[in-house]
Amino acid sequence: MEQIKTFFNYHKALMQRLHSSGFSELNKANKLKELTTLCSQLLNIDSVAIWSMSDCGDSMNRELCYESQHGHHHRPYRLERAEHLVYFKALEAADILFTHNAYQDPRTCSLRNSYLNDNSAMSAMLDVPVYDSNRLYGVLCLESHVERYWSLTDVACATVFADTISLINTHEAWLNSRKELDYITSFDDFTGLYNQSSLRYRIQQLMDQKPQSEFALLWFDIDRLNAINNGMGGQVGDAVISEIAVRLRGMVLSGKDMVARVGGDEFAMLYHLPKQKDQMHEVIDTIMHTIHQPIHLGTQDLQISTSVGIALYPSDTDDLSTLIRCSESAMYQAKADGRRQAQYFNQKKSATAKASFLMKNQLIEAIAHGDLSVVYQPVMSGNAQDIVSCEALVRWQHHHLGFLSPGEFLPLAYDAGLIADIDFWVLEQVCKDIKLSRARGIIMPSVAVNLSADALIDPLLADKIWDLLEKYQVLGSQIELEMIEDAIKDDSSQLQQTLDKLVCLGIKLSIDDFGTGYSSLLRLKNLPFTKLKVDRSFIEHLPQNADDCAITLSILGMAAGLGITVVAEGVENAAQEQWLQQQGCNYLQGFKYHKPMKFEDLLRALKTT
Ligand code: C2E
Ligand code: CA
Ligand code: CA
Repeated sequence: MEQIKTFFNYHKALMQRLHSSGFSELNKANKLKELTTLCSQLLNIDSVAIWSMSDCGDSMNRELCYESQHGHHHRPYRLERAEHLVYFKALEAADILFTHNAYQDPRTCSLRNSYLNDNSAMSAMLDVPVYDSNRLYGVLCLESHVERYWSLTDVACATVFADTISLINTHEAWLNSRKELDYITSFDDFTGLYNQSSLRYRIQQLMDQKPQSEFALLWFDIDRLNAINNGMGGQVGDAVISEIAVRLRGMVLSGKDMVARVGGDEFAMLYHLPKQKDQMHEVIDTIMHTIHQPIHLGTQDLQISTSVGIALYPSDTDDLSTLIRCSESAMYQAKADGRRQAQYFNQKKSATAKASFLMKNQLIEAIAHGDLSVVYQPVMSGNAQDIVSCEALVRWQHHHLGFLSPGEFLPLAYDAGLIADIDFWVLEQVCKDIKLSRARGIIMPSVAVNLSADALIDPLLADKIWDLLEKYQVLGSQIELEMIEDAIKDDSSQLQQTLDKLVCLGIKLSIDDFGTGYSSLLRLKNLPFTKLKVDRSFIEHLPQNADDCAITLSILGMAAGLGITVVAEGVENAAQEQWLQQQGCNYLQGFKYHKPMKFEDLLRALKTT
């Protein structure tokens, strides 16, 4: 009964210490110091130490020791399993090892000539296991210089101390793993910069500050990283990303706050606005200059550029998500305006810039994935009875927007330098279809394909078309190429050569949208065109509009003089048709006869005429 009472008193003393103010704030080492001291004082023990087992279990190391005579010390001591096999086994086998005389106890007598003598002739020992989560961590070791018969209170009390130390170990491990988790959730693994969620957190912190701080969010995107990845390999792309990260982190600027990696090749920087706002220009110049230094990769120097969008708090918005969106769309605007520049957010410009930038990227994918398609619009004979040829027109089946007409995406394609690729893609599709129709026993009339100025300046154009004709076994005479006047306005010898080569392949050339652009009759005379298409705008108001009648008549007369045939585009009604027929127009094209149609529908239409 007496022993139980004593134990409860000791237990109470321990709990009071544990729950006293300040204990939880101590670091682990200091907590252990307090516990070993208290244990020694309560139980009147000469020495209380904590030993830890090595990971592989082949040794134990003294970590910390409290001696009633000398206080704490950290003199390291190491016990090898190989030298104290019996002792180690006993420790592992028995939950608690206690002996009143360690010199004589067979489990501990191997310590006699080393440890016990080295440590002021320790005599009695009480070892209680200490855990770290569910792993044996080591022992709490109570020692006495003189023989001591350990009481139940001693054992119970030592066990409670050991358990408390186990709990502290486990709590520490939990704290560490939480720190790791914090790291994973706050940082970008690849660059070591903060990630987007840290950035958002920081922005919110700055927004909540009183007095209000003014800052800029700069959003960086590396230009054409895709092209670098595709052309030079992903490793080069990675090297570019890490170099940009190093440069952004390394920049010494007085108002710089957080730098984060917010996407594959996107970074962000928070910058406290200077008192004099116009100084911000210098800051941006410095940033752009630093980023745009060439990147040395092995023996080569890589010239890279970035587009930067800047949004200001609070003048652009006082909302976190909107601020991010603003800086992003300013970045898209910088890209749309030619890349390698920084732009401030501008409400009006940004919305369209982002949309067109995204469309461009989608268009690149559409060309690669075959989301484009070709439709055919028949061209009728002058008496409107027969299909004499047809025109191939490109379409884009956009996954959100549905079918897009050329007017909706070709301007983008021109901008992005993709138009020649599209023309070529259409040409190949046409060759495939011609081959397919032949296989089905249907003779397709010649097909007119639209060619842009970009395609026309390619000096290899004729060779490429020749390869295509070969590949699909298509005769040149089955293809016509339409180009607008502006595409041939340059009178270089190279253009002349290209056109001549095409004609040599048997391909017929025609001028599209005639009457809308720059053209001279003389020029037409010197180039190998055999057909021209009167632009729809002149046909539209026939026969009511006298000017349009006069223009069309003069085109027809002039063409006849040059031996060139004429197609009227956009014929929609009988009045137009009748007038054109009366003037002797050679061919008619328009919704009155057929709208552009799918290949299969064209084959059906061909069968029935
Ligand atoms: P375009 O070469 O003048 O093609 C004729 C356009 O007029 C087509 O529009 C056609 O659908 C439309 N059209 C034909 N008949 C009528 C009619 O009776 N009434 C009206 N209102 N419209 C009619 P689409 O397909 O939208 O093509 C527009 C322009 O896009 C084409 O004008 C051409 O300049 C360009 N385009 C189309 N496909 C290609 C291509 O593969 N490459 C290039 N470079 N340009 C293309
Ligand atoms: Ca055309
Ligand atoms: Ca046209």
